[in-house]
Amino acid sequence: MSQQPPVPAGGGGEFLHAFLLDPARHSPGAPAVIESARAGRITTTTYAELGTLVDRYAADLDALGIETGARVVLESGATAHSLALLLACSRAGLAFIPVSPEIPQQRLLSIVATARPALHLQPPDGARTDLPDSVGTARFGPTGLTVERAPERRTPRRRVPCATDPAYIIFTSGTTGRPKGVVMSHRAVIAFYRGMLAHRIATPEDRIAATSPLHFDFCLLTIGLALGSGAGVVPVPQGLVRWPRHLLRVLRETGATQVHGVPSIWRQTLRHEPERLAALDRLRGILFCGEEFPLPELRSLQRLRPDARIINCYGATESMACSFKEVPNPLPDTVERLSIGIAHPGAEMLLVDGDGAVVEKPGLPGEIHLRSPALFSGYWDDPAATRSALVPDPLCPQSGQLVLRTGDLAVQGANGEFFFHGRTDSQVQINGNRVELGELERQLAEFPGATAATAMALPQPEGGLQLAAFVVLTAEEGARTAPAEVRAFCARALPPYMVPQDIYLLDRLPTTTNGKVDRAALAETAGAGRPGTAPA
Ligand code: ADP
Repeated sequence: MSQQPPVPAGGGGEFLHAFLLDPARHSPGAPAVIESARAGRITTTTYAELGTLVDRYAADLDALGIETGARVVLESGATAHSLALLLACSRAGLAFIPVSPEIPQQRLLSIVATARPALHLQPPDGARTDLPDSVGTARFGPTGLTVERAPERRTPRRRVPCATDPAYIIFTSGTTGRPKGVVMSHRAVIAFYRGMLAHRIATPEDRIAATSPLHFDFCLLTIGLALGSGAGVVPVPQGLVRWPRHLLRVLRETGATQVHGVPSIWRQTLRHEPERLAALDRLRGILFCGEEFPLPELRSLQRLRPDARIINCYGATESMACSFKEVPNPLPDTVERLSIGIAHPGAEMLLVDGDGAVVEKPGLPGEIHLRSPALFSGYWDDPAATRSALVPDPLCPQSGQLVLRTGDLAVQGANGEFFFHGRTDSQVQINGNRVELGELERQLAEFPGATAATAMALPQPEGGLQLAAFVVLTAEEGARTAPAEVRAFCARALPPYMVPQDIYLLDRLPTTTNGKVDRAALAETAGAGRPGTAPA
């Protein structure tokens, strides 16, 4: 089976690998991936070497005889090899599902049960065992793929890959209690990359540090910006991102000129290593995404990096992202809210009010709807959720065209720019990670003896949000349960960023006069750390 997506004449490519490895965009000897290993050793993979790796992995995948369109779970951090593998999947007509090596077994099994992948891949030191027999397993490394359990060989049902096929599926928090698989086609990802590249954020001289993990599409954004611009990508190992000295060391040693990350990656660095941050002489650009940047922290960052071009990137996994807006540096004192700009070229954001009408007047709130060729195809095997996110174009419902209903509230300024004003639902961002409080509440409700549970994201004095859980147990369970057990129960099923920091065991959930859970009273309980309700 060697059906490879064809590269259209003239280069460019309608498939992820062909688009990103388009030789017209970069010279073979230029660095594509720059990695910092221990003891200051830097490993550089050139574009030519990356191409060779992609060829080798694609040939290995092909040799396994997996049917075109099958899914491959890629459990890895971002490295030159994992990047080559995701491009090889594209080349072999397979969709990749990036997952974190820290994903709890239970959650991985739930993804496997839903997505029914043909193959699971991890690096030689990966610790995952115990996957169902239906999934082939292999390790990847310098000598290619080492198969542990061969995937089922099937007669290919469909042999011609199509640009509307899934390029990848990213599983994110879902309200129903099971992760939601956002399916992105080659066509959508490339439409997004084209829109992003039109902003000319990078040049071939750039080295762009990706601080987000591979399973977060922000990392795929950075990879697309770097490779799409002929620049180099610097994957920062996840274990180092939250340690300011290590992060700054990697940035210095690799000569990073841009850093991409969620706003919270800067918090500790601003506090503990401002001089070292100021001394990074090659850093010119900072791009953040995933949540609002707290303005005091942003201003501190600007004071240390008055020369930096800082870009606020807004959007959701369902379209990878959708706007890029340069933040004035310095930010005038009068600014109280950052602009998220307008959609990238080729797309449009609209505001829609509660009656479904398009909001035309500046200053009036509405929910952002995104008209774009870069929209996801749907949620994997979840038509009901797909129908509620992909809705008829409010500008012309008769056309049959669908748009993304984002769940984000915004207002438009007089010059047409958008300003983010929170969510219409209980989705929150914890250090840039998307969390559906409903999913956490479902997990809490599964705790033996739980009779009620509420989760909240509470602001912290040092900035950012933290998850708190309020759980009512039966008297019997309550008497013998420590809050830490509830937390451990969550950690077995949920990724680390969804595990509540503070657990409060209560006799009952307070209610408002109309009988709803009184969230203000719960926040007060958390703020006061009341005796008998001490968090774990
Ligand atoms: P992504 O992977 O693109 O960061 P997620 O799907 O994890 O996105 O989360 C998307 C949500 O995060 C958005 O719907 C919005 O609520 C919030 N968000 C993303 N970027 C920004 C931003 N720059 N400013 C404010 N909120 C943001």
